Amino acid sequence: GRMRESARVEAPAVRFADVAGCDEAVEELAEVVTFLKDGSRFRRLGARMPHGVILHGPPGTGKTLLAKAVAGEAGVPFFSVSGSEFVEMYVGVGPARMRDLFQKAKKSAPCIVFVDEIDAIGRARSAAGMGGNDERESTLNQMLVAMDGFSSSDEVVVIAATNRLDMLDKALLRPGRFDRRVEVGLPREEGRLAILRVHAHGRPLADPEADLGRLAHVSGGCSGADLANILNEAAIQAARHDRDAIVWDDLVEGQLKALAGPEKKAKVMSGAERRVIAYHEAGHCLAAELCPTHAKASRITILARGQALGLALYGQTDQLLLSPQHLHERMVVGMAGRAAEQLTFGQVTSGAANDLEQANSIARHAVETLGFSPRVGQILVRQRGAEMGLAEATRRSIDEEVVRLVDEAYRDALDLLAAHRPQLVALAEALLAREQLERAQIERVTALPSAPRQPADHQVLPTDRPPVAEPVPVLLPAPSAPRPEWAPDEEPEPVPARRGRLRRLPATVTAAAGSVRIRRPRARRPQVTFVTDAVGAFRDIRAARRGRRLAG
Ligand code: ADP
Ligand code: MG
Ligand code: ZN
Repeated sequence: GRMRESARVEAPAVRFADVAGCDEAVEELAEVVTFLKDGSRFRRLGARMPHGVILHGPPGTGKTLLAKAVAGEAGVPFFSVSGSEFVEMYVGVGPARMRDLFQKAKKSAPCIVFVDEIDAIGRARSAAGMGGNDERESTLNQMLVAMDGFSSSDEVVVIAATNRLDMLDKALLRPGRFDRRVEVGLPREEGRLAILRVHAHGRPLADPEADLGRLAHVSGGCSGADLANILNEAAIQAARHDRDAIVWDDLVEGQLKALAGPEKKAKVMSGAERRVIAYHEAGHCLAAELCPTHAKASRITILARGQALGLALYGQTDQLLLSPQHLHERMVVGMAGRAAEQLTFGQVTSGAANDLEQANSIARHAVETLGFSPRVGQILVRQRGAEMGLAEATRRSIDEEVVRLVDEAYRDALDLLAAHRPQLVALAEALLAREQLERAQIERVTALPSAPRQPADHQVLPTDRPPVAEPVPVLLPAPSAPRPEWAPDEEPEPVPARRGRLRRLPATVTAAAGSVRIRRPRARRPQVTFVTDAVGAFRDIRAARRGRRLAG
């Protein structure tokens, strides 16, 4: 019975025009469409079209949609299965279903076979750990056998999708199998605008041009699916208010709801708790205002939503290259909620736990995957999801570096907010009074005169500092008795001076248009300079390490 229900077949009505913001992917796939429509043209010239195309990119970027559009444009049947369906199946069922699928597909050629979440069956054997899953492997083998069995006259194109290309078994990516790889990335601003235009169809907006442009601008980091969701939530919001058209306010509400969940009117909070949350969010927001490379908040709120008690919504910028300074500022802003609580009430509440998690993961990312810590070095910590055999000392220094980076960010956040206390108070009090502040209001409130104080000009990773024997102690303001109610007219508490100066960063990462240069002068090592494209930079560090090992 389970074998019968194997693959779904449909004749999609989706066209390339329904997929926006990924023109390069569309261009690549247009060739597949031509092949499916008119294969003889290629065969006459001896061209062998790829039988396998792999679409990779973050979730919700339109991979499934693109695959359907290929079938839709070519007017051929679309068979689809998901790799995850093959997990946890009875022995022998997986391969049998695969065989069945490909037999059916061959009979209905020309057609598309779409394998979603191919990483579920095509994971690299080493990453699967000991033993492995025989059923998974034989399902994968069955698929490869079927693909290898295609002759050049078989007009079946297999399209697979994954968000973990790095996890896939090399056997899958061999020539003759999935040898075409098409990246479907998160859309940039123009892409987001194009996607919004597609989904705004049939949803009347009060001021379509201005509002969609504005939304595209402030929705950095959103996928196509997120954007579609935002517009849908906005339409629901407008209908609820019985409006004839969707207004800007509905779009902002839609964005908040899509990203953080619905507003929780029922969540009862005491006055003291509201205060803590207001100062916490004001801390994040103010720190972002003061950090030059950080995106500014477009809205902050202390109305509870989903899991969050308060929220600052940042208009993320489309950034491909992360500098150490930018990562530092992200951590400063992340820790600023805690810092504001500490400065104002003398203690940190559990509401700030999530920020700690975020700052820690940024620091770990910087040390473990970006090779930004000269103390730890350009070591590869993880490959294909599996940790490399690291020396105990390396592992310890990684942990120490993470602690140091987060501590420094916290200290910087404390300094920054202490130097701008009047703004912090004004912002928090405005939040308490209005519950929600828009960009214009944030600007007005934080425009109070104050001593200019920028975040430390140190980079995330000062390097030529002697190795620390012990983790640097965190300098917190002396724990004073908790003061749940802070009177705005009180004198600001003195903050202890920073310990030690941080020296310059010898590993400079300079971003120029489309290229990255990594230079690491070290006394005892030859100078290594790479000039590569941005995306390849990490791969090259890896290659360089391998080379050094071979040479030495
Ligand atoms: P993926 O397969 O990459 O996870 P999907 O193709 O399932 O993403 O996308 C989910 C939905 O999000 C689509 O049905 C579509 O409504 C919307 N969407 C995603 N990306 C795009 C895009 N580039 N253009 C238009 N709509 C998109
Ligand atoms: Mg999908
Ligand atoms: Zn926070």
